[in-house]
Amino acid sequence: MIIIMNMNATDSDVDAVVTRVDKLGLRTHLSRGEERTIIGVIGDERQLDKGAISRMHGVDRVVPVLRPFKLASRDFHPEDSKIAINGHEFGSEKVIVMAGPCSVESMEQVLETAYAVKEAGAHMLRGGAFKPRTSPYSFQGMGEEGLKILAKAREATGLYVVTEVMAPDQVDLICEYADMLQIGTRNMQNYALLNAVGKTNKPVLLKRGMMSTIEELLMSAEYIMSNGNHKVVLCERGIRTFEKYTRNTLDINAVPVLKELTHLPVVVDPSHATGKWTLVKAASKAAVAAGADGLIIEVHPNPAEAVSDGEQSLKPHRFAELMTEVRAVAQAVGRTI
Ligand code: PEP
Ligand code: MN
Repeated sequence: MIIIMNMNATDSDVDAVVTRVDKLGLRTHLSRGEERTIIGVIGDERQLDKGAISRMHGVDRVVPVLRPFKLASRDFHPEDSKIAINGHEFGSEKVIVMAGPCSVESMEQVLETAYAVKEAGAHMLRGGAFKPRTSPYSFQGMGEEGLKILAKAREATGLYVVTEVMAPDQVDLICEYADMLQIGTRNMQNYALLNAVGKTNKPVLLKRGMMSTIEELLMSAEYIMSNGNHKVVLCERGIRTFEKYTRNTLDINAVPVLKELTHLPVVVDPSHATGKWTLVKAASKAAVAAGADGLIIEVHPNPAEAVSDGEQSLKPHRFAELMTEVRAVAQAVGRTI
């Protein structure tokens, strides 16, 4: 952090800043120019309150040098993190595909979908038992019953399960059934929930808030990691923009940007990013071409009857088609599926 003093700052203004920085165990380096003094802070500046320093007498402005996230940052961990689930590694050469219904609706629906996506080459099963719906009157999910169905489908197909956890008091229950905990877009900044999943040892699929910046996503990952759980997979799932044709706008830039900033694996959800099944294949191919480490895709045996997100759900045969085309793109960019 660099603290730039006003032209008319006095020696005691400078001393006060230096004392404040010293108290936190950080060192300072003073550069007294002809017009103003600049104070360089040496050490981990994240513990300094930038706002509080800016408001000190004689301070003109404060310029951070370090990124605000640390454990998630590539600066501190240059090589890609690999996160293994059931022999599949997020962040490796292999693109990991998670597929399944938006909501768990019945044993038959989940089993039919699970067998179909497995046959097409998916590596994991997705499905929501606790659903974060915009309206309190919409279907809220089957709850524990739904988790049991997912666990049965894992037994039957060998596909490991990712499912959403919406509140800290659900974490223990969901950990009993799930292999990976999903934090949904609406909960990306639910810090109590981030702390709670950070205390488990399950991999976490952290979805980007629909109105959150890339830096905010990384700060949320930092919450989970600072609790001890470093198994975080980031998910770009589309953000809100002025464009109304699609449900969200897939921020494809987020993939290479995240790859630059962090060592954590990055996956893309082309279903929620587009909101239309006709666009899901193109968005999936774009994601893999851009360097995504995985995809999470909604598939339903009968989308017209789906209780949630039918408009963006693929029928199983269309998912199989998608896999064939995505595989070719993956090969073209030196990846496998
Ligand atoms: C989902 O995966 O079904 C879901 C609700 O996703 P998001 O949180 O990204 O809207
Ligand atoms: Mn959904």
